Amino acid sequence: MKEQILVIVKPDGMIKGHAGHVLTRFEETDLRLIGARVVKVTEELAQAHYHHLCDKPFFGELIHFLMGDLHNHQDLVLAMAFTGDDAVKKGREIAGATNPELADPHSIRGSMGRVTTKGVFENVIHVSSDPVEGEREIKLWFTPEEIAMDLFSTTTSGHRKVWA
Ligand code: UDP
Ligand code: MG
Repeated sequence: MKEQILVIVKPDGMIKGHAGHVLTRFEETDLRLIGARVVKVTEELAQAHYHHLCDKPFFGELIHFLMGDLHNHQDLVLAMAFTGDDAVKKGREIAGATNPELADPHSIRGSMGRVTTKGVFENVIHVSSDPVEGEREIKLWFTPEEIAMDLFSTTTSGHRKVWA
């Protein structure tokens, strides 16, 4: 089934120069890149992105992590949208398990991630966990104009196209 996913190269991946490798790994699949932008992560965006984890003990640390506060204020991340058959399964296979120490060593997280001495998972990339989240996250990180195909329905607000 055709699905859409958001992939983010997180601040640890950006500061270590892994963005190109991540893109290469995704290009080796049959998934289609339909949007890409460098995004400055605000607290508001980070909290909206991870809103479902807000009651977890690591939430505060996670928001700081995504904002680059743990990586020399590397607050620019690379956000990408992909579409294709079984995009969630393919994307999460490339990513590997959430905990880099448990991830397949050939996966991005297993080969490039680490758990810090403070217990923070530096796991290099985000990949949407299911198609519903994929849609929500793409709509959060991209405007309709930034997605190079008609993906989800839109409406107009003033002169601008917005997600319906
Ligand atoms: N995370 C963490 N410690 C945990 C679980 C999650 O630091 O015990 C962080 C990690 O960066 C992870 C993110 O929270 O990628 C989102 O968690 P989720 O369970 O959604 O994992 P993912 O979908 O990224 O594999
Ligand atoms: Mg998740």
